[in-house]
Amino acid sequence: MMKIQKKMTALPAKPHYTASKPFFSPKEIIFRGEKRAMVFKLSSKFQLFLLISFMFFCGWGLYSSHMYHRSDTIINKKEEQLDKTRVAYEDLLTEFAALNKSIENIMQGLGKEENVSKKKANAYKNQAAMIESRVNKITQEHSWLSADKVQERTSLYEAQLQRDLLASERDELQERLASLNEQYEELREYQKDAYDKVISTSGKEVAKMKKVLSDVNKALKEKGQYFNALSNRKDMGGPYIPSKKEMEEDKELNDKLTSLYQNMEDLDYYTQVIETTPLGKPVWSYWVTSKFGSRLDPFKKSKATHKGVDLASMSGNKIRVQAKGKVTRAEYTSGYGNLVEVDHGNGFKTRYAHMKTIYVQKGEELEKNTAVGEVGSTGRSTGPHLHYEVIYRGVRVDPMPFMQAKL
Ligand SMILES: [Zn+2]
Repeated sequence: MMKIQKKMTALPAKPHYTASKPFFSPKEIIFRGEKRAMVFKLSSKFQLFLLISFMFFCGWGLYSSHMYHRSDTIINKKEEQLDKTRVAYEDLLTEFAALNKSIENIMQGLGKEENVSKKKANAYKNQAAMIESRVNKITQEHSWLSADKVQERTSLYEAQLQRDLLASERDELQERLASLNEQYEELREYQKDAYDKVISTSGKEVAKMKKVLSDVNKALKEKGQYFNALSNRKDMGGPYIPSKKEMEEDKELNDKLTSLYQNMEDLDYYTQVIETTPLGKPVWSYWVTSKFGSRLDPFKKSKATHKGVDLASMSGNKIRVQAKGKVTRAEYTSGYGNLVEVDHGNGFKTRYAHMKTIYVQKGEELEKNTAVGEVGSTGRSTGPHLHYEVIYRGVRVDPMPFMQAKL
């Protein structure tokens, strides 16, 4: 139709077009009705404009269909990311629940405990360390899950397209993260409470042991004797010092952790001292027939120093060591009769004389309360009794304060 050329009376006699007919040469479009005709002139510029427009629309169509497809992929990818984040979040929740449970168990255990044994103390120490590392790990995971990171991840994929489509999801996730943060803070509080309880219980236990030792010291001092079982304390690695990073993270928690570890070290140390100090009575029933110190020798009838206590008891009654140790003597001597000597370490030795029977052998390792023999009247003895000696660093000291110590 565009090419239709008709000679009309209204047209000028001379036609515009030339024989060469360039591609954008001016053209005329004529719409002819029954009675009238309309002529549209298409200039070169207008034709160029039409072509550019046409090409633009074609291009736009291709681009938008491509972008539609691409945004679909982006959304899928993003949903995948969010799914992963959700799974990570669920995992974290499960871990939090487990951690909460274990902390609850510790707290319950602490509530029931009257005192902390060395074994228990070590278990608490390990659990405290475990919780600390778990919480640190969760902190790291938590920072991975932080809202900023999620935004960064999504915006990387999302570019400028379809942002608002997932904004609501993100908001929801952020809410969840906020609640997670609350739970995390709560957990920290639990942890602090747990630390406080362990600190307090171990502190009490240490104070109790210190009191026992100081009571023995005091009693000996009054008699001009002194022992310092604490002088053996070696450097035990120093107190636990949290790293600078941890300090900045939560100073309060780390202060607690420091005192907790200090108490645990004290507890370890004093437990060891108590274990190697013969505190208690070597025979169940007795009466003291001769104290430590100056007395009249029953054989020589002259003044002599009695270097132990005589505990009259039924012949055959069992004699038990009041601290763990190693048998250094198990023999018959003319003065002591049947004699057992035990080295407890930490400077302490004990001797048991006039025994009826010896149960142990030299070199044997003994636990506390092991029976070493029976009360008898062997050697220089006037009747069934136990001559009991406590030796501290080679010096025989009064056994009574040790026997009277209340653990
Ligand atoms: Zn004696």
